[in-house]
Amino acid sequence: MVKQTIQIFARVKPTVRKQQQGIYSIDEDEKLTPSLEIILPRDLADGFVNNKRESYKFKFQRIFDQDAKQEAIFENIAKPVAESVLAGYNGTIFAYGQTSSGKTFTITGGAERYSDRGIIPRTLSYIFEQLQKDSSKIYTTHISYLEIYNECGYDLLDPRHEASTLEDLPKVTVLEDPDQNIHLKNLSLHQATTEEEALNLLFLGDTNRMIAETPMNQASTRSHCIFTIHLSSKEPGSATVRRAKLHLVDLAGSERVAKTGVGGQLLTEAKYINLSLHYLEQVIVALSEKHRSHIPYRNSMMTSVLRDSLGGNCMTTMIATLSLEKRNIDESISTCRFAQRVALIRNEAVLNEEIDPRLMILRLQKEIQELKDELALVTGEQRTEALTEAELLQLEKLITSFLEDQDPESKLEVGADMRKIHHCFHYLKKLLTDKKIHGPSRAPFSEVKDQVNQGPSTEEEYKKLREILQQRDNEINILVNMLKKEKKKAQDALHSSSMDRGEPRRSQSSPFPPGNPEGLRTLPLSAPTQAQDSSVIQYRSSLLHRKTGVREEMSLGRQEAFEIFKRDHADSVTIEDNKQILKQRFSEAKSLGESINEARRKIGRLKEEITQRHVQQVALGISENTTVPSAPDPMEEKLRSQLEEEKTRYKTMFMRLKALKVEIEHLQLLMDKAKVKLQKEFDAWWAEEATSLQVNSPPVNLFNHVKPFPQTPESQHKRSQLLSNQRQ
Ligand code: ADP
Ligand code: MG
Repeated sequence: MVKQTIQIFARVKPTVRKQQQGIYSIDEDEKLTPSLEIILPRDLADGFVNNKRESYKFKFQRIFDQDAKQEAIFENIAKPVAESVLAGYNGTIFAYGQTSSGKTFTITGGAERYSDRGIIPRTLSYIFEQLQKDSSKIYTTHISYLEIYNECGYDLLDPRHEASTLEDLPKVTVLEDPDQNIHLKNLSLHQATTEEEALNLLFLGDTNRMIAETPMNQASTRSHCIFTIHLSSKEPGSATVRRAKLHLVDLAGSERVAKTGVGGQLLTEAKYINLSLHYLEQVIVALSEKHRSHIPYRNSMMTSVLRDSLGGNCMTTMIATLSLEKRNIDESISTCRFAQRVALIRNEAVLNEEIDPRLMILRLQKEIQELKDELALVTGEQRTEALTEAELLQLEKLITSFLEDQDPESKLEVGADMRKIHHCFHYLKKLLTDKKIHGPSRAPFSEVKDQVNQGPSTEEEYKKLREILQQRDNEINILVNMLKKEKKKAQDALHSSSMDRGEPRRSQSSPFPPGNPEGLRTLPLSAPTQAQDSSVIQYRSSLLHRKTGVREEMSLGRQEAFEIFKRDHADSVTIEDNKQILKQRFSEAKSLGESINEARRKIGRLKEEITQRHVQQVALGISENTTVPSAPDPMEEKLRSQLEEEKTRYKTMFMRLKALKVEIEHLQLLMDKAKVKLQKEFDAWWAEEATSLQVNSPPVNLFNHVKPFPQTPESQHKRSQLLSNQRQ
């Protein structure tokens, strides 16, 4: 592999207002390294960090301006990394920048359009396509998705995510084995055999991340997310496995604490984020210094996790995302500065390991033990004395870590000592029988349930009933309020009917038919042309289960309120739009499927005609007694060229159908996610309403109690419309 520095790229997010021009310029004339110049506006330049400079220039490998498409980002930035991962090297791509500068958009993609899909889905698509092409090796792909929040790791693919808060989830911890390899305890690895399965995992993790987020805890700006594709390949019959990892990292917002001016919990978070970004920088700087023997990987969770994928024998790429508006100038400059420091790393300067004498001794001790074992085996010496307490404990530890190790290739090595081997078997047997006896009842949820079922006292029952009564009262009040508003709206609509360009979404094209309270279940589950394998369905149903789980608890009144809430929510427009696109794609897929079948039949017919023609020609040759045909048969030639044409057509249509299948899957997942989000925002709104009613405030100024949700400008607009409606 070519030795190189860490690649740094810049991407400028499109600005909403056009008057931001003149704040920066991109100079691409300098062929080798383009540069980005940030120009300080006059009013800012005076007092800017005690510095009279009016412009700053930064060099990048490439700079992607506002109009750059996701496709170009993938082709230029991610594809080369994916290629090196396929070749067996580790790789990391991370997005760095202040909140809202486009990190998530770049790494994962936009929430609405298929064309906005980001580096992760495109990379998955590319990798699976390449794996399919290469039949010389056996490939296995696993996915993990880790979130680091306040220096604690959480598994975004943990099924318990849906039922617990972040704090209750088991934390992912970093373990180091004697060979200094990093292992992440409590981080699940999921095998993905197809692009769709991998995509489902991505969306599952993203939905879990969203669920855990509350207005108070905007985890997405304060946490780092690492989506990792683990690839292993083996030649058939060979014992050597080649492994490579690709980390796709969406870092926390890089804004500085001083600027956010916050206290308490927020400050702790900011400290952690800044600290971990600071440690990332330290590691990067250390890697860039020649002859450094100590790389401070252990200082933070993130650098520990990325340890074998920063510098060294791997490709590391950073994307500096910039939101170049006047108020963001200083943050943008600091992002660019960070990028310049990152660019200093050279792979030849790398020392990817820390040398620790303690670990060295451990390793040598292990080797001595192994040699002793081997010697005992060769000399036939049998040991009969019982194993010591410490030896037994050690063995059990080995077995536990072996059982917990997700790696299908992991081995349980106890040496050539029959006593130990016997003990392992006994221990495993014991574990198995224990499991049979206690079996599935060990699941955490059923334990809770059991406790609940231990006959509730009448007092409890009474309390419950009272609560339900209170809930119903609230419901009625909320609904009455909504009804009033609806009535008002209807009147307004009547008055201003000349202005009406409204969308009659409710009755005709509501994404969820009103007569169907389980509307969320009515998702089309698969394209008519595709058969999804069971594991995909399993992931999706896990997503859906969460939603239906919530729905089942909904009373009728609440469901009705949900319908109205939904209709006024900006996200339903997205859902509706995507639903229309989906419909089109489905019918396109269907007719493509038909054309493909037609083409296949035609190919069959042409082949048959060619054979017949051939047989005829040979028969003719025999009857005319000319063994060698004088000239090529023009008829056969024509048939052959028709056949070739048809084959090409078939292939093109087939590829298109395959791409459609992925697009359909992606759109469905986007819709699922939007629906979960909608439900979540409704639940929050509902809870808020109920609380405010309980506090006994007159239920008139309903929306004054509404906590603002993170919303699209569109939905905020709608909400303010609602507010003004109310005040009239
Ligand atoms: P971050 O993850 O850095 O906080 P996001 O990726 O969430 O920022 O971007 C903030 C908003 O800007 C999102 O609504 C996103 O869709 C939009 N956005 C970001 N980058 C682009 C881009 N290149 N083109 C269009 N929209 C973008
Ligand atoms: Mg983000």
